[in-house]
Amino acid sequence: MSSPNLTPLEDALTRLLSEAPVVTGVETVALADSLGRVLAENHYVPADVPPADNSAVDGYALRKQDLRGDRAIPVSARIPAGEAPKALAPGTAARIFTGSEIPEGADSVVMQERVEVTDAGIIVQAEVTEGQNIRRQGQDLARGDLALAKGTQVRPHEMGLLASMGVARVAVLARLKVAILSTGDELVDPGTPLAPGQIYNSNRFTLIGLLTQAGCEVALCETLRDKREATRETLLRAAESADLIITSGGVSVGEEDHVRAVLEESGSLSLWRMAIKPGKPVAFGAIGGTPVLGLPGNPGSVLVTFLMVGLPYIRKRQGRNQKPPVGERIPADFSVTSTSVRREFVRARKEIRGSEPVVTPFPNQSSGILSSACWADGLAVVPENTTVSPGDLLTYYSFAELLS
Ligand code: AMP
Ligand code: MG
Repeated sequence: MSSPNLTPLEDALTRLLSEAPVVTGVETVALADSLGRVLAENHYVPADVPPADNSAVDGYALRKQDLRGDRAIPVSARIPAGEAPKALAPGTAARIFTGSEIPEGADSVVMQERVEVTDAGIIVQAEVTEGQNIRRQGQDLARGDLALAKGTQVRPHEMGLLASMGVARVAVLARLKVAILSTGDELVDPGTPLAPGQIYNSNRFTLIGLLTQAGCEVALCETLRDKREATRETLLRAAESADLIITSGGVSVGEEDHVRAVLEESGSLSLWRMAIKPGKPVAFGAIGGTPVLGLPGNPGSVLVTFLMVGLPYIRKRQGRNQKPPVGERIPADFSVTSTSVRREFVRARKEIRGSEPVVTPFPNQSSGILSSACWADGLAVVPENTTVSPGDLLTYYSFAELLS
């Protein structure tokens, strides 16, 4: 059942992703500095990897047809890795090492453990199959193939693959510059004593962490006081340097919710009452030509709305070829009855009971607390209007997957 007043997550994502311009800047970085960056161009393989057939083991390269019972075969050459081998003399074997190139004329490599070394040469003590222990030229990457596509986020193994193709510098998309604006007269930076009525600004730091982990550049961090003109001035200023403004708080319908009012007056705004819990009010709009994502104020809501709503949008803008998180289906170890049209993202842990995984929730799911998220290692989804009993399968997204 859906409610006419609440926006389903899928609808909000469809809208956000349809209005997500990819960053246009490209920079070239040293391969060693490319971790986490998004490739700005396709990488085609310039030459076969490996460049030649080579040995998978330490042993002896030979021609299978030269094997005659247990007759010794003389060893005519020694081929260390890194040297270009000469053709193998007929009827002989070559001492060879892992990674050494296979000499012309050899068709198999016998592991040294399968060989008896005598004065007359080697006696092979095992069956030999033609081609055994040979890593073929181009078996990793064949010349001309697309090795890595534009939009790939570079992980450690992509760095290695690029290196294996001889790439020293890589063109990557510019980092998305994000301004974090926290709203609220009650907010104080950590490091300052609290006066009555004040609380520490935690959302700023949650967002710095999330954005940094997502590969964004935090362009600006400011606290907006609950004043209309100051809010307008800061939003307009942030719009000049940022590709995206993320606000927290100030988007409910209270009279102190000036972000909403300023965007309506001086920019554009869609305010959604999202059908997710936590995280009802989420705003999306623009000011000074820069998109604005307005997250709720409650710390638990900031985390959940950033992960479920903000991150897919940010990835699209980063130019990443993204796959939606798949999660896992894990039996619940709890019961809950949802009579709500809001899909609930429960701060939860995957645990092993006996030998089976179960998903177990933090007892206090208030959107105002963060300790639940720190205890948790992911989010379990309680669908709309559902009764969950122990053993029922729930979708569980680990934070590791969501943030990968
Ligand atoms: P608001 O949407 O501005 O009414 O905020 C909702 C709740 O979140 C209030 O309890 C605020 O005090 C709290 N809140 C808003 N911003 C922050 C922040 N940056 N850090 C911690 N709590 C906040
Ligand atoms: Mg507020």
